[in-house]
Amino acid sequence: MLAEIDVAIIGAGVVGLATAGEITQGKKEIFVFEKNRTFGLETSSRNSEVIHAGIYYPEDSLKAKLCVEGKSLLYKLCDKHNIAYKKLGKIIVAVNANEITQLEKIYQQGRKNGVEDLMLLSQTELKKLEPNVEARAGLLSPSSGILDSHTLLKYLYNQAREKGAQFVFNTEVIGIERAGAKYKVQIKDRDGISDVIAHVVVNCAGLNSDKIAQLAGIDIGKVGYKLHYCKGEYFSLSSKYRNIVSRLIYPTPEQAGHGIHVTMGLDGRVRLGPNARYVQTLDYAVDETQKEAFCNSVKRFLPCVEFEDLEPESAGIRPKLQGPGDSFRDFVIAHEEKIGFPGLINLIGIESPGLTASLAIARYVGGMVKEFLA
Ligand SMILES: Cc1cc2nc3c(=O)[nH]c(=O)nc-3n(C[C@H](O)[C@H](O)[C@H](O)COP(=O)(O)OP(=O)(O)OC[C@H]3O[C@@H](n4cnc5c(N)ncnc54)[C@H](O)[C@@H]3O)c2cc1C
Repeated sequence: MLAEIDVAIIGAGVVGLATAGEITQGKKEIFVFEKNRTFGLETSSRNSEVIHAGIYYPEDSLKAKLCVEGKSLLYKLCDKHNIAYKKLGKIIVAVNANEITQLEKIYQQGRKNGVEDLMLLSQTELKKLEPNVEARAGLLSPSSGILDSHTLLKYLYNQAREKGAQFVFNTEVIGIERAGAKYKVQIKDRDGISDVIAHVVVNCAGLNSDKIAQLAGIDIGKVGYKLHYCKGEYFSLSSKYRNIVSRLIYPTPEQAGHGIHVTMGLDGRVRLGPNARYVQTLDYAVDETQKEAFCNSVKRFLPCVEFEDLEPESAGIRPKLQGPGDSFRDFVIAHEEKIGFPGLINLIGIESPGLTASLAIARYVGGMVKEFLA
């Protein structure tokens, strides 16, 4: 007889981990299948570790709502469980008149999204806060910060396990088939291929989430779930730049990303990035030929940065629904009942601010699961 479980979560990134912790309760059998040897080895450990305020996204989008809610849940969780963070604040800078206009729009957007502490800064005010930054105006977001995402991942994993979630590593989901009112989930591990029956399947497979939806039988082209990979590379700055800024410094945003910005680790190390380049393959090598573009881009507002002080550091890849030149796409977080897949919950396109929003995403998905299993 096939093993039968209540919920199969595919993927143990920050979203799968948070979701497992949220929905595990009582006697329900929750299994998390992860193809890697442990949790959090993909996008969740290849990002800027920034707790975003929720400024940029269109009002009422899931990105805006879950970012604002997630930020506050995350700060509370970090306080309660000693997860290191710093609420440094962030400044988006404008270097010309066009960008000043854009900054004002971002300010209005942020206010609409419920980010109430934003402040527009004159050149003099900006200079007082960040003497090394050269720009004509700024937008200060005091509630933005950085966190130790590795400790967060570890906390979420331990918490889900303590509540009873079972983690199955080195196990890839390779098939999903309807089996009456349930799903037969085909998994591949070192011992071969086997099946489990699950009442609910939650697809938290990050860069593979479109393929998982397709495996389940969804026409991803038709419903607009096809993902585009958008690489974000980082260069580090040498230690002489340690105290060059006190806050995260961002340019006015570009189309596919937030623009190459200056971030800090909790240890004070300064890094530049990420850029945003659409790619075809999942390759995390940093292209050193990007160094000049990084340097020029940051020099626009931080002129003291020297080319020779940049070192290639790391890269992550965004699972983007928005292709090159496309307009804004929101997170897809959908119980697919309406298209004939009751009990299948897809999370697709969970790019930034997915780390910030993770706890709020988990609550949102938890609500869907609880309603379905009630
Ligand atoms: C360059 C970059 C910078 C970013 N900066 C920030 C930031 O500063 N702040 C912020 O809030 N967000 C940021 N993000 C976004 C954030 O990192 C992601 O939204 C978040 O980590 C997504 O988590 P996840 O759990 O959905 O995906 P992942 O971490 O990718 O986890 C998905 C998991 O699913 C597993 N999986 C896939 N297919 C299968 C399968 N078939 N079977 C079993 N397991 C499978 C994978 O192995 C993986 O472990 C950034 C992203 C990038 C790329």
